[in-house]
Amino acid sequence: TFDPTMRPDPLPEDNDRALRPKALDDFIGQAEARANLRVFVQSARSRGEAMDHTLFHGPPGLGKTTLAQIMAHELGVNFRMTSGPVLAKAGDLAAILTNLEARDVLFIDEIHRLNPAVEEVLYPAMEDFELDLVIGEGPAARTVRIELQPFTLVGATTRMGLLTTPLRDRFGIPTRLQFYTEDELFEIVSRNAIKLGAPADEGGAREIARRARGTPRIAGRLLRRVVDFAVVEGDGRVTQALADMALTRLGVDGRGLDGADRRYLRLIAEHYGGGPVGIETLSAALSESRDALEEVIEPYLLQQGLIQRTPRGRMLTQGAWRHLGLDAPKGPSD
Ligand code: ADP
Repeated sequence: TFDPTMRPDPLPEDNDRALRPKALDDFIGQAEARANLRVFVQSARSRGEAMDHTLFHGPPGLGKTTLAQIMAHELGVNFRMTSGPVLAKAGDLAAILTNLEARDVLFIDEIHRLNPAVEEVLYPAMEDFELDLVIGEGPAARTVRIELQPFTLVGATTRMGLLTTPLRDRFGIPTRLQFYTEDELFEIVSRNAIKLGAPADEGGAREIARRARGTPRIAGRLLRRVVDFAVVEGDGRVTQALADMALTRLGVDGRGLDGADRRYLRLIAEHYGGGPVGIETLSAALSESRDALEEVIEPYLLQQGLIQRTPRGRMLTQGAWRHLGLDAPKGPSD
């Protein structure tokens, strides 16, 4: 329903590998998380042990997968990757776990979507590096215990609140990723432009950074689109004027909001007098899943101070009315 180009979820065309930083020193932003991870990686290395289980949470496209890969790289171990919805049966997870080598990193994306039967298998695996397998059925069934190699589980989730408490409690290192600042995205865009062989001048890189919704994945994607325009309609150079023209044509406004964001804000303004309005109502009116609104659209609007969450629903702030170029209705408190 909304234009996937502008959304922070992965697309097949992303070819993320080319732009992914490989070492902790190449990873820009998330200073606090990076500093902590550096300590935990070094400590694990010098003790020769598996690093403690780590949970990354935050909106899509902020670098959770990238950091997990970097951890494996810095620890000098293998990186194995799967995701919550893919692990349908306990046996699927058991097969992966029994194949891990000592101190490997196992990355489980969307870990809040694990099937409960699979999650049960994960508890003893995380805690004691043991697997309890049930063999046979009925009265003949028996449990065998399998010893696993010590490993590091790295979980990623966009919805911390959906994780069960026992699972959350088994992560020694919970880490929240933040939206990136414009300066950090400027650095990322400038480096990515060089990697793509299409250098951006300072104004061009800054324009993309300002309009990337605080998200490196979106910055990478907008850069590719702007480069397309530069090649076809310009002289190949990514300048501020060219970036502005291209982004405006892509429907990305001066603050980085796209069509889906503006539709969300306009709905609350024009049909609900600025709110409060419940999430289910918004979801029905926009034909978007509640999850998509809560995981993808709202976090950035909240961070930008354009909406507020109240017990009675979502409300526009003064800033949102200004951004839409509309007059806020006069409330009793004004
Ligand atoms: P997530 O797992 O949180 O959805 P990813 O780790 O897949 O996000 O990152 C999305 C894209 O953004 C990747 O192409 C990655 O290379 C890039 N990226 C993320 N964080 C950074 C960063 N700090 N510096 C440079 N590129 C980044």
